[in-house]
Amino acid sequence: MIALFCRVQYQGGHKTRPYRNNMEPYFKKLTIIGVGLIGGSLAMVLRKKGMVGEIVGVGRSISTLELAVKLDVIDKFTTDPAAGVMDADLVVIATPVASIAGLLKKIAPYLKEGAIVTDVGSVKGTIVKETEGLLPTGIHFVGGHPIAGTEESGVGAAFSTLFEKHKCILTPSAKTDKDALEKIRKVWEAAGSDVILMDADKHDSILAAVSHLPHVIAYSLVNTVDDVKDFEESILNYSAGGFRDFTRIASSSPEMWRDICLINKEAVLDMITRFEKSLSKLKGYIKESNGHEIVKEFDKSKKARDSIVKK
Ligand code: NAP
Repeated sequence: MIALFCRVQYQGGHKTRPYRNNMEPYFKKLTIIGVGLIGGSLAMVLRKKGMVGEIVGVGRSISTLELAVKLDVIDKFTTDPAAGVMDADLVVIATPVASIAGLLKKIAPYLKEGAIVTDVGSVKGTIVKETEGLLPTGIHFVGGHPIAGTEESGVGAAFSTLFEKHKCILTPSAKTDKDALEKIRKVWEAAGSDVILMDADKHDSILAAVSHLPHVIAYSLVNTVDDVKDFEESILNYSAGGFRDFTRIASSSPEMWRDICLINKEAVLDMITRFEKSLSKLKGYIKESNGHEIVKEFDKSKKARDSIVKK
């Protein structure tokens, strides 16, 4: 608690800048914990839109934070989360999902009255449950998940238009402060997102189907094919557009996806079981040379897939 009474010491980046059009921004001080693809992209767009004044970055490695200052994503940084959040009006936790609740616990005593904390984690149920009760009265948490990203990671891959025309799901609970929720809605709308409010557990079931299962399958597919050695040593050299399109997301961060699979375990296992059933049905039709049923299956999925890409 001693740090509360000290002047905040930053370890690097000492940029100060005037407010855009001399107008006071929506949030005077934004702290981003985890200045990577998502945290960095959000900082960039909020600065561009004049929504925030000073931007402080918090991370584990100095080199990441120095790069973020060089790229003009943040103004100052520290590796100490407690120091980084002091005086912040808005704190965004954009680290891998397994670290979010622990970080919130660490920063809770150092947040100022009225501060709003949000996150961008890809799993929401556990995070929302773990965070409720962690924050003192007068400090608010709003869970969030932008449905936008790439297979790249790190601040070097961040760009300000990442969230444009993408959905952002906010997961308020009965205890969420209404004003804080509206402010976080404005943040994501400023980033160009279409904001949707949803129950956290429903979010996790939906995302297990449309995002977590595809990642698991992509990783598994690449390994299945790569492990084929009996008739060709380097079989992946023969892969072309179809294989690359299908497996793009297998280039995503293994640690990030490990956390997501383990934290959303039940929903992910449920989707894997459904997928096994579907694959086994198809395997049966191929084994029986049942062309009629194979076409029926492929036709059903072509229609569903065409309907989402033509939207
Ligand atoms: P990323 O590019 O790897 O960035 C994560 C950042 O967090 C890195 O800068 C890392 O920096 C820092 N970090 C990691 N652990 C930390 C800790 N304990 N304390 C402080 N900083 C820490 O990852 P990302 O893709 O932006 O993902 C971040 C979050 O967004 C995850 O929760 C993910 O589920 C969610 N998300 C990702 C996507 C996507 O498509 N990528 C989409 C939506 C939501 P150092 O290693 O230098 O510390």
